[in-house]
Amino acid sequence: MTHPHPMSIRARLILLVLAVVLPAAGLVAWMFIYDSRDAQLVALVGLAVFLAALALAYRIAAAIVKPISALARTSIKVANGELTARARIAGPIELKVVARQFNHMLDVRADAEEALRDSEERLHSIVHMASEAFVVVNAQFHVILFNPRAEAIFGYTMAAVTGSGIDRFIPPRLREMLRQDLEKLATDGPHSIRMSDQADMCGLRSNGEEFPVEMSLTRIARNGNPLYSLVINDISERRRDEARLDKLANYDPVTALPNRAMFRQRLQRALVHAQRFNEELAVLFIDLDRFKNVNDAVGHDAGDRVLRAMGDRIRASLREVDTLACLGGDEFAVLLEKVTDARIVGSVGRKLLTAIAEPLMLDGQEYHITASIGVSTYPADGSEATMLFTGADIAMQRVKEHGMNNLQFYSEAINAHSIARLSLETALRHALERNEFQLHYQPKVEIASGRITGMEALVRWMRPESGMVSPADFIPLAEETGLIVPIGAWVMKTACERNYAWQRQGMPLLRVAVNLSVRQFALVNLVSDVARVLDASGLDPQWLELEITESMVMDHPDQAIRTLRQLKSMGITLAIDDFGTGYSSLGYLKRFPIDFIKIDRSFIKDIPGNSDDAIITRTIIDMTHNLRLKVVAEGVETEAQVNFLREYACDEIQGFFYSRPLPEDAFLRLVQSRNDQLLSTA
Ligand code: C2E
Ligand code: MG
Ligand code: MG
Repeated sequence: MTHPHPMSIRARLILLVLAVVLPAAGLVAWMFIYDSRDAQLVALVGLAVFLAALALAYRIAAAIVKPISALARTSIKVANGELTARARIAGPIELKVVARQFNHMLDVRADAEEALRDSEERLHSIVHMASEAFVVVNAQFHVILFNPRAEAIFGYTMAAVTGSGIDRFIPPRLREMLRQDLEKLATDGPHSIRMSDQADMCGLRSNGEEFPVEMSLTRIARNGNPLYSLVINDISERRRDEARLDKLANYDPVTALPNRAMFRQRLQRALVHAQRFNEELAVLFIDLDRFKNVNDAVGHDAGDRVLRAMGDRIRASLREVDTLACLGGDEFAVLLEKVTDARIVGSVGRKLLTAIAEPLMLDGQEYHITASIGVSTYPADGSEATMLFTGADIAMQRVKEHGMNNLQFYSEAINAHSIARLSLETALRHALERNEFQLHYQPKVEIASGRITGMEALVRWMRPESGMVSPADFIPLAEETGLIVPIGAWVMKTACERNYAWQRQGMPLLRVAVNLSVRQFALVNLVSDVARVLDASGLDPQWLELEITESMVMDHPDQAIRTLRQLKSMGITLAIDDFGTGYSSLGYLKRFPIDFIKIDRSFIKDIPGNSDDAIITRTIIDMTHNLRLKVVAEGVETEAQVNFLREYACDEIQGFFYSRPLPEDAFLRLVQSRNDQLLSTA
């Protein structure tokens, strides 16, 4: 019930007072009238006034009390959670104002609660969908919230972990640190802490697996009760990517050893250290000899396995603290720090040479690999990484030039090389015009008949001031300088001319074998040059044999096949020299039109005693025969070797057992006497 103009409480109280005062006044008036008028009338009037006043007073009191109790009822409802209850008041204006304010307060609170609900819902969905794990713990560090991402990365459900301590999510060694950090937040410390700034943080999955995380802790105070949130990122993937990138940038893909970039870094660091502490260090460059042939022969996959095996061997020969790197391909580098004595470096280098040279058995194939090692040292050869790199490289190149499978220090290499090489080179340039070359001849003997079937022409340099120089000492230099081409041409011409001359003298018909160098073999006009020499000398091509090495044909097989076919079609005999050192398979050689395989003397040296070499030799003989080729064994020195080779049907032998390489006269006497001997025994 509403009134358009409700009375104020004051007006009502005045009315109330009047309602009480009026009957009182009536009563007083009645007492006066009682004396003067009819008493009954007066009593009635008085009663009527009294009742009217009472009714009025009651109404006034009710108009005040009712709205107040309505307000009281509403507030009880609100207190009981009925938030939509509102006070509806018809009464004194002041109470209406109070009720309106009361209702307004309830509206404000309802709005605020709705907003809070909204924002909580939003927060919940953010936490729920978050890509980070989100764990909230209470003041006792017990879990009260665990979002789905946390469930996913830790492997627990929210239900399983609610109320449990935070410890179970990190490895034991990190627990104390986490606790301390949380306590720091609890006291007056910072508002939040990034744990990963302090250490390599790890999480612990339910299966016990550790994984790298980024973790930040934040204090979220609520209602005065502290709560802490842990935002956790599983960074395993990122770490894996970083590791992968690091591997790409710093490690050799084939051997998984540090690569050139990483080796250089370590060397630079080591140099700084060595300078500060007055120490010495050494850099060893290791290059596997003729490794290209291995790749060509067995393919890159097998080649890679060989490289890894060699890496393992080198590693096994070093100390834990030494750095081993693979510089790419077949090049390795070793950094030796805290070197107290240069002799130690030498012995490490030799140890490596021995380890590498051990026969390697891989996938049923045996490999004989050697290496050339160059060494530079700090401070003797330089104080910068680049200088030491270059020094070791140059020293290694020298080893290559001088027959490989050896070790050379840069300082010695440079001195020895620059002086000796220069004078040798100058002398070699004049050797041809000064007629200083000679040919020696070494017989090849048919094992079955004991007959000399031919001879290998081997060049000798009669150097006036230093006597006879072995081809091993000048052929590499001649190769390098290109002088091998005219020298080789001289050998070919002389060998053909002499052989023809002997035939004219009535000597038995013999095949003369001439060694071809890589450079000669690569000459475009090799075939026509040979034809011209034969023509000019008068020698029939069937009495000329050319010896080439495996590597020469393996470098450019297609071109080699073409050249060999042309030579073959002229009637020339072709032989593969030093077979077994270049890793070409016999099956592969089938494609080449050759007549002889010369087993390298390194296999012959230790037969029959060395069973490995004996097996290799027998296998080469068998396989060569299967290919319908003939076999010559080089370097035969003993009767036992001859017997072994005879037993396994080797066709021809060459070596000191029959004769060393001899000058022409001596060789001709040998042929003569041998023939006489054979005739007399026949
Ligand atoms: P090669 O072609 O394998 O020649 C055989 C080498 O083995 C010769 O060394 C010979 O003296 C040596 N030899 C022969 N029988 C035995 C033996 O029973 N035991 C031992 N330990 N060694 C034996 P040489 O004459 O010092 O020649 C070395 C290499 O120099 C030759 O190896 C060949 O590759 C090269 N060479 C020699 N003459 C020429 C040439 O005219 N032109 C070219 N390009 N290279 C040549
Ligand atoms: Mg030869
Ligand atoms: Mg040989």
